[in-house]
Amino acid sequence: MLNNDLWVESFIVGALAMRCSVVTDLKTGDTVIIDGGSETQRIISWIEDFSGQGPDWFKGPSSFDTMNSFGLSRRKVIALVNTHAHFDHSGEIPYLLERYDVSWYLHPEDDYLQSLAQKSAQRWGFNLPTPAIADKQLEDNMTLELGSLKFEIYHTPGHTLGGCCIEVEVEDGANHLFAGDTLFAGSVGRTDLPFSGGDFNLLSHSVITKLWPLEGDTVVHPGHGPMTTIGVEKSTNPFVGVQSAAFAEFN
Ligand SMILES: [Zn+2]
Ligand SMILES: [Zn+2]
Repeated sequence: MLNNDLWVESFIVGALAMRCSVVTDLKTGDTVIIDGGSETQRIISWIEDFSGQGPDWFKGPSSFDTMNSFGLSRRKVIALVNTHAHFDHSGEIPYLLERYDVSWYLHPEDDYLQSLAQKSAQRWGFNLPTPAIADKQLEDNMTLELGSLKFEIYHTPGHTLGGCCIEVEVEDGANHLFAGDTLFAGSVGRTDLPFSGGDFNLLSHSVITKLWPLEGDTVVHPGHGPMTTIGVEKSTNPFVGVQSAAFAEFN
């Protein structure tokens, strides 16, 4: 896809300040929601009407006028995709599935964790609906074609068993990677969360073998905290970067 065709928005949502990403092909309006965990009404209102608070970061139109100037009259949500099943990322998927009659993609090794979303949220004092069940499976190294959008899927276990990073390739610009809680700016996801299968050795192996080969200018959209790039993290991340003990171990 060309740089100008890719429309990306970040919504920082919920008490855990989780990044929900919305990716749209400006040529066709095909839209995918990544990690619809919270504040789904805010996201729906923006996608459908440009109303309400809107995104916290975006590359692309921010009004009907600018969208129409690209020759697009409306967006069409065609699928939901999740990096992993922690409740802050997946808890409001049922509300999105009520609104959109689409498939939901999750790696099957997170299915058990997903079944616990409502209970886990209760421990934090949050009320969530009965957990959704993913009807489509992500697989390592698959190319996921959804309408006119195309995603590369990397299974990156370590924060959870089924954690995945999701990449959109851009022909004439930097690619985008939706990293969930696998990789953060200057950090990595926790490996001590209950029922998740967290394991730092596994996590660092995932990042070093699956993410470091990606292009250095790839824009990373982590599940929490600021955006970064693969190149910056590879050279400076204290946990998994080239100077880290983990990197020395796997190279
Ligand atoms: Zn998580
Ligand atoms: Zn998270």
